[in-house]
Amino acid sequence: MRTLIQDCVAGIPPVVETAARQEGLNPRDMARAVARGHVVIPANPRRPHRICAIGEDCRVKINVNIGTSGDRCDPELERQKGMAAIAQGTDTLMDLSTGGDIRAIREMILSLDIPVGTVPIYEAVRKAGNAGDVDADLLFSVIREHCRDGVDFLTLHCGVNREALAALHSDPRILPVVSRGGAFHVAMMAHSGQENPLFAEFDYLLEILAEYDVVVSLGDGMRPGCLQDADRHAKTVEYLNLGRLAQRALSAGIQRMIEGPGHIPLDQVGYNIRVIKELSNDAPLYLLGPLVTDIAPGYDHVVATIGGAVAAMHGADFLCMVSPSEHLSLPDVSDIIEGTRVARVAAHVGDTARKKEGYKMPRERQMAEARRNLDWAEQFRLSLFPDVAKKIHARDSSGDTCSMCGDLCAVKMMRELFESGKKK
Ligand code: SF4
Repeated sequence: MRTLIQDCVAGIPPVVETAARQEGLNPRDMARAVARGHVVIPANPRRPHRICAIGEDCRVKINVNIGTSGDRCDPELERQKGMAAIAQGTDTLMDLSTGGDIRAIREMILSLDIPVGTVPIYEAVRKAGNAGDVDADLLFSVIREHCRDGVDFLTLHCGVNREALAALHSDPRILPVVSRGGAFHVAMMAHSGQENPLFAEFDYLLEILAEYDVVVSLGDGMRPGCLQDADRHAKTVEYLNLGRLAQRALSAGIQRMIEGPGHIPLDQVGYNIRVIKELSNDAPLYLLGPLVTDIAPGYDHVVATIGGAVAAMHGADFLCMVSPSEHLSLPDVSDIIEGTRVARVAAHVGDTARKKEGYKMPRERQMAEARRNLDWAEQFRLSLFPDVAKKIHARDSSGDTCSMCGDLCAVKMMRELFESGKKK
């Protein structure tokens, strides 16, 4: 079977036609971007579902993480969270389940009409009992099962290798490793005394991914877990490794994204994005956050929106939702709704800065005109969240203005002044 990249070298596959139409782009240009590795379309051929393209010239996409934990395992809650995220406009879901019947939960999430990603090391650790007992055979068999089940993209921490570990030891951090997958791989290497099998046997991994045409998201296991660790060496060593692995994946016809960078001070966001893009030859970049302060638990979704918008402006293509419960608890449905909404704001703000038409896009202009015309129905129609806007306006709306300035409405005053001026 040929992979999508190989099909794009030969022509324009139907999935690319569809994705290009959604983005308002030329299908030929998109096929070239996929072939060059600048765009990915996570669409496992085993599972038909709606698709989206991620990368160069595309609208910034968002992902929502759902899934059980060992402490809270309620598959029905996870189904509701998935449905809520889809209703709020997420582009993809990731199933991060680590509790209960992980395969059954995955199958339930895969029944939803949306691209789905997973992190196979989580299930491998549950199967083995602990991270130190996961070996290469188990990990590759779990990866193959996820591909066979229809998962569209896999986060695989291939860059957490001995070199990155040496950097972690020689340039210590306050929080050594905060990525769950990264920590599992460090434990595996510490236990076996050997190299990370995903790095050592990367060519074999690519063979599995090619067989099922699944996208690899090269995980950022060494992402900083606090602002104080943002300039330590381990993440930079991992960036270099991920850049090299990204090139090898592309040469093998495998679609790949890069993940990064975690907790980063606001003034370092642009620099980090540009370095990753340069090292990976402009591979699509997938971010959790970045979180640009560590002292706002409960509002980390807002913190991530600030970081995500700036990151998108500098070239990040895919933003992972951060919910209000980040660092505090497994999200519930309301956390998912709020987190998805603010992630959409970050993605849209990024688009206003990086898309070709940018802030001149029709929807932004139409909203300005609707505000000038005090046309509330049109303002609600154009809003990212019409239900919220309508509800707040309805609290004490009267007449054609709102209660913010009431009879001293500046917009109304200027309209009357300018319109009477025009008549004269
Ligand atoms: S009342 Fe104030 S806030 Fe409301 S529309 Fe008029 S100028 Fe804007």
